[in-house]
Amino acid sequence: MADILYTYKTSVYANITNKCNCRCTFCIRFLKDGIGDADTLWHQVNPTKEEVIEAIRNYDFTGFDELVFCGYGEPTCELDILLAAAKVAKEEKHLKIRLNTNGLGNEENGRNIVPELADMIDSVSISLNAPGSEEYEKVTRPQVPDAFNKMVDFAVECKKRIKNVKWSIVDVLPEDEITRCKELSSKTGIDLRIRHYT
Ligand code: SF4
Repeated sequence: MADILYTYKTSVYANITNKCNCRCTFCIRFLKDGIGDADTLWHQVNPTKEEVIEAIRNYDFTGFDELVFCGYGEPTCELDILLAAAKVAKEEKHLKIRLNTNGLGNEENGRNIVPELADMIDSVSISLNAPGSEEYEKVTRPQVPDAFNKMVDFAVECKKRIKNVKWSIVDVLPEDEITRCKELSSKTGIDLRIRHYT
């Protein structure tokens, strides 16, 4: 069985599902089976809510103050598990909660999920990936229509209710695309993190 919780660098991560509504060209899932101390992050069967909660309750978080929901899948594709697991991590383990997401959770769940997230999540990192629809479609190959604009709307909603919201891109984007991402960041007031691509 794949690891539900794993460590990478200085954080503990929760790999709650392999479901995803994108097929990004750069996705690490297509390059290797595991990250950090996880041999594989591919679940033979996606874990149940009870299994995820049990994994959190049994994990020794000594030395860590945050749990990051990020694995080989999009956490908001299992919103019920995400919210229940975040509640246990927050209330029983006294951890801060971060969500790393592709920002398509509203479309996936057919409603504005941000108020529900805001009750449990302390910070959100949203993959911006590109400065506009055309580039975004090419690189993320989303399974939902008008995905770029839906992702931007989600980020703007998050910004209204959650204290720490960031977009992220990698530094291999062409300079003009990085400039347009920065412009979008200043227009919306959502911070932009430019990660070094490894
Ligand atoms: S959204 Fe994340 S998990 Fe899904 S394909 Fe893209 S990089 Fe991979």
